[in-house]
Amino acid sequence: MKILVIEDEVKTGRFLRTGLSEVGFVVDVARDGEDGLNLALEMEFDLIVLDLMLPALDGWQVLSRLREKNRQALVLVLTAHDAVHERVRGFEMGADDYLVKPFAFSELLARVRSLLRRAPPRQQETLRLADLEIDLLRQRATRAGRRLELTAKEFLLLSLFARRAGEVLSRTLIAEAVWDMNFDSDTNVVDVNVRRLRSKIDEPFSRKLIHTVRGAGYVLEAEG
Ligand code: CA
Repeated sequence: MKILVIEDEVKTGRFLRTGLSEVGFVVDVARDGEDGLNLALEMEFDLIVLDLMLPALDGWQVLSRLREKNRQALVLVLTAHDAVHERVRGFEMGADDYLVKPFAFSELLARVRSLLRRAPPRQQETLRLADLEIDLLRQRATRAGRRLELTAKEFLLLSLFARRAGEVLSRTLIAEAVWDMNFDSDTNVVDVNVRRLRSKIDEPFSRKLIHTVRGAGYVLEAEG
């Protein structure tokens, strides 16, 4: 079993390499997000231990690029904060588990083992609406069987719409869920991104799925 540790703190990296090697894993350590991402794309790992606060690319960027490339390695995220919204965002972005720093090695090992045990059949989850199909785990979407090329943010936006299909979502709600920020003063970001998403999922098709509800927001639905 091969594990990639992406962690910039030398001490933690060394401690994880030693500990995991001692119990029989083959371990590579990368010191920044860019090296880590490159390694993860070049080689197959069973599991990636990913620190969030990293130089070059942060953990979120590494995670979204990995999933964009459909890399299926299990990802255990290390975070200094125990904020619930970060977990939600992390899971939506394809993290498999979380560990809050500081942690005991025995705790990390228990998480690693339990993740590897429950893999490979990761829980299947597919959302469907009319001829739109969203595979949440593989981060893929198709319409009428045709693959939609979406960025990680567009995919997140589309999954949000699909999870809450038929419900009008306000720009503020969308901004908070997708960008984890409060765009009170600039919900234009939402409009721009919805427009991009529409150009991919609706423009080429006669049946439109994303609808604007004037003064309220947007809704994804088959009828409208
Ligand atoms: Ca760090």
